[in-house]
Amino acid sequence: MKTIELNHPLITHKLTLLRDKNTGTKEFRELISEIAMFLCYEAFKDIELEDIEIETPIAKMNTKILDENKYVFLPILRAGTGMIDGILKVIPNAKFGHIGMYRDEETFKPISYFFKVPKDIENKEVIIIDPMLATGGSAIDTINELKNKGVKRIKLLSIISAPEGLKRIEEEHPDVQIYTACIDEKLNDNKYIVPGLGDAGDRIFGTK
Ligand code: URA
Repeated sequence: MKTIELNHPLITHKLTLLRDKNTGTKEFRELISEIAMFLCYEAFKDIELEDIEIETPIAKMNTKILDENKYVFLPILRAGTGMIDGILKVIPNAKFGHIGMYRDEETFKPISYFFKVPKDIENKEVIIIDPMLATGGSAIDTINELKNKGVKRIKLLSIISAPEGLKRIEEEHPDVQIYTACIDEKLNDNKYIVPGLGDAGDRIFGTK
């Protein structure tokens, strides 16, 4: 599936503030959260709603409602947790799993150390959240774990993506729809996204 890139002046504006190295922790967190809201909004464009009858103060009407229980969001630790707040603003009853991955500093390969998801995950649509899609390694490992558990419907939300990572996921998992706020130029030799925003986890949690 072709990656959907948010193409909107408000997103470009928020990304400019987010990328700036002089942006402080508080503002950085808020921007991550705001962009996550817009990504979630876009990712829910094609979902099916349930029929429901309600009464307004004026009349009865047949309308539609979201069954929030059909979806599980899966932040990739640790930077993915920075997007939870924004997701909850759009889907307040959202269910969450967690997956922990770290990058081996020499091979740059992702190593999984934690995986906790709701019991009936195979019946849910799972939406992986990670602000930076660099090599695509963590996302591919996460998708593989989910598919091994029987999950059939997977989406991926990322704030900034590298073309190299997108290509890998599109090739290995063409059924996974990716939503990203921006596709950047490339990866550098340390597998950081260029121009990117640096280390998202460090900037969210103020660890550097
Ligand atoms: N993870 C980050 O936080 N930043 C990058 O540029 C790549 C991976």
